Amino acid sequence: MNPVITIVGRPNVGKSTLFNRLTRSRDALVADFSGLTRDRHYGKGRIGERPFICVDTGGFEPVAKTGIVAEMAKQTKQAVAESDIVIFLVDGRLGMAPQDRVIADFLRKTGRPIILAVNKTEGMQAGVVTADFHEMGLGEPFPISSAHGDGVRGLIDDALDSL
Ligand code: GDP
Ligand code: MG
Repeated sequence: MNPVITIVGRPNVGKSTLFNRLTRSRDALVADFSGLTRDRHYGKGRIGERPFICVDTGGFEPVAKTGIVAEMAKQTKQAVAESDIVIFLVDGRLGMAPQDRVIADFLRKTGRPIILAVNKTEGMQAGVVTADFHEMGLGEPFPISSAHGDGVRGLIDDALDSL
């Protein structure tokens, strides 16, 4: 099976925008993904000659214990467990949020490889937008713009290279 890249982050950081950019017009049939849990949002992506499977996750609220939000957190945890690599997406315009730390701690515990991508950085200076996020200890943050495409190819190339 192709490598599975899962996008994780708190609501509104641009996960679905990135997913759509990576998978556009390659809507995947659930049947293509034997071995993966069925009820998540999967798509096929390709960078150059390299195919991959992309997973969009819906928000992440690890502190919630009940209801739809807890169910989403559970879904996200399962998605992470099934991934070869996780793109942890944060918002470069808002900067670090308390929830980002909680998600980072959760992701570290899973032992999955993590790439930290700082989204919404179009028109911003790379060194400035990533500075805030070094303290997460997840390596050099990757500035991208899911909406405009800046840095996205390099991000996925690095993700696939790291496998
Ligand atoms: P999700 O909740 O993490 O799936 O986030 P969405 O993909 O739904 O995006 C949330 C909001 O951020 C939307 O209004 C997007 O248009 C906006 N957004 C996503 N990516 C970018 C980006 O690269 N730059 C800017 N400026 N806005 C973005
Ligand atoms: Mg979304």
